[in-house]
Amino acid sequence: LSEYKTDIQIAREANKKSIQEIGAKLDIPSEHLLPYGHDKAKISAEFINSVQGNEKGKLILVTAINPTPAGEGKTTTTVGLGDGLNRIGKKAAICIREASLGPNFGMKGGAAGGGYAQVVPMEDMNLHFTGDFHAITSAHNLLSAMIDNHIYWGNELDIDIRRIAWKRVVDMNDRALRQITASLGGVANGFPREAGFDITVASEVMAILCLAKDIKDLETRLGDMIVAYRRDKTPVFCRDLKADGAMAVLLKDAIQPNLVQTLENNPAFVHGGPFANIAHGCNSVVATTTALKVADYVVTEAGFGADLGAEKFMNIKCRKAGLAPDAVVLVATVRAMKMNGGVAKADLGEENVDAVNNGCANLGRHISNLKSFGVPVVVAINHFVTDTEAEVQAVKDYVAKQGSEAVLCKHWAHGSAGVEDLAHKVVQMADSGMANFAPLYPDEMSLFEKIETIAKRIYHADEVLADKTVREQLRSWEAQGYGHLPVCMAKTQYSFSTDPNLRGAPTGHSVPIREVRLSAGAGFIVVVCGQIMTMPGLPRSPSAEVIRFNHDGVIEGLF
Ligand code: ADP
Ligand code: MG
Repeated sequence: LSEYKTDIQIAREANKKSIQEIGAKLDIPSEHLLPYGHDKAKISAEFINSVQGNEKGKLILVTAINPTPAGEGKTTTTVGLGDGLNRIGKKAAICIREASLGPNFGMKGGAAGGGYAQVVPMEDMNLHFTGDFHAITSAHNLLSAMIDNHIYWGNELDIDIRRIAWKRVVDMNDRALRQITASLGGVANGFPREAGFDITVASEVMAILCLAKDIKDLETRLGDMIVAYRRDKTPVFCRDLKADGAMAVLLKDAIQPNLVQTLENNPAFVHGGPFANIAHGCNSVVATTTALKVADYVVTEAGFGADLGAEKFMNIKCRKAGLAPDAVVLVATVRAMKMNGGVAKADLGEENVDAVNNGCANLGRHISNLKSFGVPVVVAINHFVTDTEAEVQAVKDYVAKQGSEAVLCKHWAHGSAGVEDLAHKVVQMADSGMANFAPLYPDEMSLFEKIETIAKRIYHADEVLADKTVREQLRSWEAQGYGHLPVCMAKTQYSFSTDPNLRGAPTGHSVPIREVRLSAGAGFIVVVCGQIMTMPGLPRSPSAEVIRFNHDGVIEGLF
């Protein structure tokens, strides 16, 4: 593959325009762009207020089949489709998440797309960007410090130091901090207790920043967060510690959406980045709703496969923000079909139409699931150079049998020129008014029934297994007034089931619930089905070992 340029080589060759020119494409006056250098800007709160009366554009969600180690390319396709829509003359913008710093030094690739469908400046995007995550880290840790300080000064709120639910965060993969002992060193340092760290993107502050309507709503939700419990198990809120105001102040810039550009100089909103397991995994509501007011078509991405990402996009983000997708693009690759059909990663280079056919069951399940939300679906086959014509045709034929269409897309290799067919199809679907979106369950349904609805209708499981403590916990939250909240499923992204090795479209499985958690500020109940990591570690040879400046002073090894 050496004839192909790497993502970073392509990104460096980009002919970037000034951020004012990009803003002008969306009629954002330059005084409302708060520049961070020449190629990044935040959009002012005044401007966002001023466009509230505008008509909303069409919202297009990009999601995917269950991910495989082969890589699906949701971000790449989101960027490519945004450029494709602009190419066919539409006023289109994309909305994606910001990157977490920690994983970039471990093994993960960048978060800015790939090939000729990328967002720039990609080095900044994968490093400190506009500092949003640092602000979230600071706001989160301010509250942590105020909790221990409150205890130190006499613990008037009667916090049970064994039941503190608020950890500390850092944007680094650091397993040594998962569980720690804090406040050691004698009387002057407080009361020793067990504590721990999560990675910043797992913070509830991140989830809130991405669901809040504006800074006022952000502050209210911060106040609603539960930080600890008393001996009688009554909750202590962030508001009780009077931390919400100062936290909101720390987040005043972070909540403003960031504008950057694609390789083809089209506008890209890059804002927020909550976990896709213990949170909803989409970019911020502020970015999406602003983009909809200034563009006619907005393409956005949800994390993981459609069983997790699209489900949360619909049932959490759209429900809370009053959004409704007009069309959904389901990304699939021939390689992933083959892996779902039983081929090992090392053998993906060989043509294997039978394996493609076998693996298509996973795709079919996602198509019918997505249609159950009342939205039209098109499959985007993200083309890899190793795909053969017969394999591509097999996917197309399968999708046609499901009553949908699969469009071959070559944006990775050719940018917008490779994705015109998909752009036309998406416009046709979105403009048809076919969408009749409804979330999967009503607010009034009991929490356990909400979990069952997702497990049965999306995962096609037979049953949900939960012991008495879990069921009682759910009932007690209902009694406390949290019963109307949506549920946020935390399970493996690799399978419809809770077993990562069960590929394809399994049926008859059970969904065991390990634990439930209340994110009272973000406004959802997290349902943990399996091992969920909220502080990743670094691999044996972290990519940090090869990241450096080369002789020409440019960064190497970041991607
Ligand atoms: P996702 O958003 O689904 O996690 P990305 O779009 O970030 O996936 O892509 C993951 C990686 O796969 C990126 O490094 C990207 O360059 C690569 N990739 C995506 N599409 C293709 C393709 N068609 N051919 C080769 N590599 C691709
Ligand atoms: Mg992505």
